[in-house]
Amino acid sequence: MRRALVEIIILTLGGLLIWAQPVSAGSLFLHRLSPPLADPLPDPYDPTVPTPTPPPLKGYTGLPNPALGHPILSTDPADPLAGFSRRPLDRYLVAQEFLDPTRPEPHFGIDYTYPEDYLRGNTLWVHPIGPGFVTARSSCWRCFVDGDAQGRVPVRRPEHNFGFGTLVIVETPYNTDVSIYVMYAHLNRDFVSLGDYITPDDLIGVAGSTGYSENVHVHVEVRYGPPGRFWNADFTRWETRDRWLATMFMNPAWLIFAEHHPNCVTALDSWAALQPRPADLP
Ligand SMILES: [Zn+2]
Repeated sequence: MRRALVEIIILTLGGLLIWAQPVSAGSLFLHRLSPPLADPLPDPYDPTVPTPTPPPLKGYTGLPNPALGHPILSTDPADPLAGFSRRPLDRYLVAQEFLDPTRPEPHFGIDYTYPEDYLRGNTLWVHPIGPGFVTARSSCWRCFVDGDAQGRVPVRRPEHNFGFGTLVIVETPYNTDVSIYVMYAHLNRDFVSLGDYITPDDLIGVAGSTGYSENVHVHVEVRYGPPGRFWNADFTRWETRDRWLATMFMNPAWLIFAEHHPNCVTALDSWAALQPRPADLP
């Protein structure tokens, strides 16, 4: 009786083994018979692989930057930045804050998203936070590839716009010496053209998850510096990335909350005062 029981157990285990094995054994055998797969494309995540040639730039490259010489006039004489008053999304949760210390790399912006909407398939329409001219827009031409486990593409590769994905930059000339640049990144698509004048009432695009992004959101990054720095800038080039990082950055919340506008004005004015002017040069 005991021996029969042991035999039944052995047979059951054996049957389970036989049931589990044939597929893998068969596929192993087939693998050995089939020729090795050729690898026609270089690994896009290998940093030693040279950058592929980007597609030619489309846009009004020959036209002058419409932002130059057109400072945005404020509607409020007491606040030169009165036009900046809007969040990029109608409804939002601040998911990732400015310079979050838990991130391995600094985060120079604020991420806005509203998961309840995008999980239901609703579009997250992106508005500009202030008035200005669209001086750069760049589609992420190799973003729609399999990323890492979170769907993110490499943050350091130019063909992914250095992790920004599809982006729009709006230039707001503060005065003749300083412009504010607001970048809206990780967009799914944008509805603007180079040179467009836009206000917070306009729609500029749809939040997406292009670039180094694991969820649908819009990354709002504010920088300021000399006017005209990013007119029709090609974000698939290292020089553009370096120029972007070389400008001064500002917490987007400073612009969005009117009570912080005096801080922005101080930063812009003091930076402008430090810049050498042609007349001052020896
Ligand atoms: Zn972000």
